[in-house]
This record gives sequence, structure tokens and C-alpha cells, in this order.
Amino acid sequence: MEILENPWPNPALPVFSQPLPTLVLKGASGVLPLAHGEELRMYVCGITPYDATHLGHAATYLTFDLINRYISLSGGKVHFVENITDIDEPLLERAERDGTDWESLGQRETDLFASDMLALRILAPEWFVPATQTMDLVDEAISAMQRNGYVYDLQGDLYFRTKDFLDELPISLNEALSIFGERGGDPERAGKEHPLDPVLWLANKNGEPGWNSSHGFGRPGWHIECAVISLRYLLGPSYLSGDLSRSALIDIQGGGSDLIFPHHFMSAIQVKAITGQQFARGYVHTGMIGLDGEKMSKSKGNLVFVSKLLTEGVDPVVIRFALLRDHYSQDRMWSDAKLTQSQVDVARIRGALSRNEVAPTTQVVSRIITALSENLNTPVAINSLLAWVEETESGVTGGSTGELARALDSALGLAF
Ligand code: ZN
Repeated sequence: MEILENPWPNPALPVFSQPLPTLVLKGASGVLPLAHGEELRMYVCGITPYDATHLGHAATYLTFDLINRYISLSGGKVHFVENITDIDEPLLERAERDGTDWESLGQRETDLFASDMLALRILAPEWFVPATQTMDLVDEAISAMQRNGYVYDLQGDLYFRTKDFLDELPISLNEALSIFGERGGDPERAGKEHPLDPVLWLANKNGEPGWNSSHGFGRPGWHIECAVISLRYLLGPSYLSGDLSRSALIDIQGGGSDLIFPHHFMSAIQVKAITGQQFARGYVHTGMIGLDGEKMSKSKGNLVFVSKLLTEGVDPVVIRFALLRDHYSQDRMWSDAKLTQSQVDVARIRGALSRNEVAPTTQVVSRIITALSENLNTPVAINSLLAWVEETESGVTGGSTGELARALDSALGLAF
């Protein structure tokens, strides 16, 4: 797989005349105001391409798309990097189960992901970087951590020493210990200095893929991959020798809320061990999506895939609209009823936008933009839009559909 710059074409963002208030995001890391005209560095954790894009992924990338759109419309620029975890246990296991090779499986699912993102009008990252193309970066980063005293060897595998960072844990040590094993860690392994220490470099096991490095033949751990890709592609190739004196190296680290621990915690402390600096100024985490009252997961087999909905003929604007109805930070449920309601609402919006006489539009645009500026409050934005549809249907006049259509297209990514 290759490193891709602008991996899929971006839709144009129509300009509209209303001023945009400062975007203020609120996450577990506190309030994060994003000043107008700012150049932001945003890193969003990408997919492990062993399966197609499900609605949870779509909701996550939609959230960062809204940030990207808003900052761009406010005259700023988002430097946006996303990785592809194209070598990891789940990918190897799925390839083995399906009797295919892991590289073609990864390529196929990554291509499908890109076409789903394009259909959903998600702005592409500047750099879309597969882990397998970063072995030299991982090699030099592990060497830097070694020099700083954060690496130890256990039977040929290299581990990261977490003990200096345990007071920064976002959850209690007991919670961390129980979650770590469920999300890719190996707390039980004998001989580790601390059960939470994550692997940095895994020596080759029989027949598994591996790469030559100064730390032996093997493959990297998950967290180091995101640490080095974000540093290299957001700070530049000479980040290890450059001047890094700033309050935080990047502005936003993002992903699903299941990445808070261990992944984002581990990536951040590894960046600190490499550079001596705080990693991200702020974190944005998106809620999980369930189906009909149950958690959506690969083990339950109830994932709803974007590509499947598209094949069934669902309009991508309906999927996007349905996802925008809930707040990004909340866990929420998906259901056929929600999809059907969104189809009905999208049809009504199209009907209203095609009228010659519509209800006043300046206020509804302003309400939508204000709602977005307040921690991406999309439920309020969508309700304001539906209230305008109702007014228009009841015969209120005085607006201009062009103004509203442009704002919906560029700020919410909804092109009707
Ligand atoms: Zn990541």
C-alpha cells in the first residue's frame, strides 16, 4: 500500500456571506477554542482495513470533516493526517480466516473506505499514511526513546516503560488494567516491568510479516505507529532535530471514544518520550453507535456498513443527514426507523428548497452556524433546518434558497 496525498477528490466549499463565530470544542481535555484564520494540525486515527466502513467510522470521520469545513470557511487551514493500520492482528486473523493474503485484503478495504468517504462528502486528509510505509520512522523513534531510557527488551520484543506517566492516566489504574487487555494490550505477559507497558516492536513470530530494522526483524506496536505518523506528517521530516518549543505539538488528536485508553494515552506518552513535549492541545472523541438497542460490534455481527446501505440504494445525503441528527460526543442508536425518518425529512427539505417562495433564510443560516460553533451542535442545526421547512410549507415567504443551500452544502456537507 502506498502513502497517498489527497487520497480522494474534495468537493468545493461554496462560500456564503454570513460571519462565522469562533468554533469552540468541548472535550474531556477541556474547552478548545479555535481562533479564526488559524492553521491547525489535526490527526485522526484511521481504520484497520480488515472490513468495510461501518456507521461508527462514518460518524467519526464526519465529525472531523465538520471541523475541517468550519475552519476552512473561517479563513483558516487544517493540516489533516490520517493513518491506515494496514498491519495488525485483526487484519492477519481475517486474512487467514478468508484464505486471502493480508496485503490484498488491506488494499481492497482501504479502497472501499475511500469510496465511502467520497460518497459521504468527507474532506480527504492531506496525507493518508499506511503503517507499513513507516518502518524507518518507527525505527528512529524507538532509538530516540531508547536514548531517553523508555525502552526495555523482553525476549526480543521491545516494550515501552509507562511508569513515569501513570499519574497522567485518564481513568483509574484498575479500569486501565481491565480495558488494556480488551483493546490490544497484554497485561498478563510475565516479565513485563508494568502490566500496562505496551509493545513498541514485536519480534517476528513464525511466518508473520515483518520488516528489517535496527531493532531486529519484526513489526511495530499500534500506538507508536500513530505517534510517528502524526509527528512526521504534521511537523515535517526533521521533527526529531527541529525546534519543537511550543505548548503542544499538534492541535487536535481525534478518534472514537474507545481510543481514549489505551491508544491515545499511549501515543501521547510515547510522543513525550520521543520529543519531551506535550502531544495534542486538545482531544475530540466521538460516541459509539449501536443498533436497535445493542452495541454494534464485529463480535455481535450487527455492524451496519456504509457500502451496503449505498448498494441498497440509500442516498448518501440521507446517511449523512441521519448521522448529523445526534451529537458527535454521544453514544447513540441506529435503526431502520431513523433511516426512514431521515429519508422523509430529506425529501421535505428538497421540496422546500425547490420552491420559488420560501421562509426567511438569513436567520436559519445564522442559527445553523451558531449551533455548529458551539461544540458542533448538529442536532440544533438540523432542528433549525426542519423548523424552516415547516415555515416554508405553511406558506411563510421572504427568504432566498441560494443562501441556505450554499450554507448547508459548505458547512454541513449536505448538498440537496
Ligand atoms: Zn491512532
